[in-house]
Amino acid sequence: MDGQKLLYIETFGCQMNVSDSEKIATLLQECDYHPTSDVSRANLIILNTCSVRAKAEQKVYHYLDRFKRAKREKQQLLLAVGGCVAQQEGERLLERVPWLDLVFGTHNLHLLPEMVRAAERGERRAEVRFIDNDIRLDLFPRGDEGRGISRFVTVMQGCDNFCSYCIVPYVRGREISRRSTEVIAEIRSAVATGTKEVTLLGQNVNSYGLKSQDEVSYPQLLREISAIDGLERIRFTTSHPKDISPELIACFAELPKVCGHIHLPAQAGSDRVLARMNRGYTRAQYLEKVAALKAARSDILITGDMIVGFPGETEDDFCETLSLMEEVRYADLFSFAYSVRPGTSAAALADDISRIEKQERLSRLQALQRTLTLECNRRFVGTVLRVLVEGPSKRGDQLFGRTDGNRGVNFTADRSIIGSMVDVRIVRAFQNSLLGELS
Ligand code: SF4
Repeated sequence: MDGQKLLYIETFGCQMNVSDSEKIATLLQECDYHPTSDVSRANLIILNTCSVRAKAEQKVYHYLDRFKRAKREKQQLLLAVGGCVAQQEGERLLERVPWLDLVFGTHNLHLLPEMVRAAERGERRAEVRFIDNDIRLDLFPRGDEGRGISRFVTVMQGCDNFCSYCIVPYVRGREISRRSTEVIAEIRSAVATGTKEVTLLGQNVNSYGLKSQDEVSYPQLLREISAIDGLERIRFTTSHPKDISPELIACFAELPKVCGHIHLPAQAGSDRVLARMNRGYTRAQYLEKVAALKAARSDILITGDMIVGFPGETEDDFCETLSLMEEVRYADLFSFAYSVRPGTSAAALADDISRIEKQERLSRLQALQRTLTLECNRRFVGTVLRVLVEGPSKRGDQLFGRTDGNRGVNFTADRSIIGSMVDVRIVRAFQNSLLGELS
């Protein structure tokens, strides 16, 4: 289209950033920017950054270097940085990168249209103030009919937990819940345009509503969402193990739309390490919650996160992590070698496990997880699973969908069934997916 301005967003990190990028794209339609996947055609390039892993800032500066020449060659090109690195670095980014136009923090998405218009007039700005009300959470992607069979919906943001290794409370601010009326309105509107599945997002969804007396509890929110006609599935992430209540566990038994999968990061299997991480639960308490979840829903699949090589982690501590994995029998696990995040309380602890030792532990842990994942996938061979068909598979000659337990399934069928729920007989299990045929 002539005269249309093109927006390219590069998204790093978690699902919250993916969701924020969708909102940014929607917001900037009001300044006549439309998404492109071709960075060379873009009039506005946004880096939506993550600072959870080490060296995130260097990565962003490295990326910005790449765009220096493009800025010289294309006078009207605008360059912006958002997300967690923007929140941390603020004005410093503008000072260090003279060809950068805008910096916006995790609470400032709603200011973007105004900031972009200012940048088009030649103004450079950084906005990284924390805003302590929930209005900013009410931005949501609209009007993209047919695109979102499965959608993210933000229900809360921020975190009050201060796990000792984690930067999130510093870059996302304190917990704030979105009004349930807004959450419901967004989901109703998404369902009206074809959405079948929502994933409710928040740093710690289980503490939804706890800080506001006139808001519903998280289990009640799930019940209200469940009552929305046309919606087939509800997922949510992330759940802090210490905040998962019996009422929430009961939702897995009582609400068929709540999928049989939960991401429940343990982070470590040893009480000593869990205490140093400030996680707020013991190994036994974690396992009790897992047992209660399995009792509520016998086929529930549990995924998690683990950190190896946290300061002071002994070989015995690490073996407790491995034994926890065997007890829980995770379907999948995100695993990381510990790295210091400046500004967190763990940064004061001696990072005393060598890089080689961390890597060695990580390899052992990942080898165990590969066995557990394959064991989990093989269980499904010969069974018929309900699959939400999301689109063509990566190879393109098959379709791809997800089971209730969030297993990816490839199978051959006509594209006309994209967006529907179908029964698929599983014929083979691989490490990362299942192969099936229409039942
Ligand atoms: S619960 Fe802990 S790990 Fe999760 S976001 Fe909050 S501080 Fe970070």
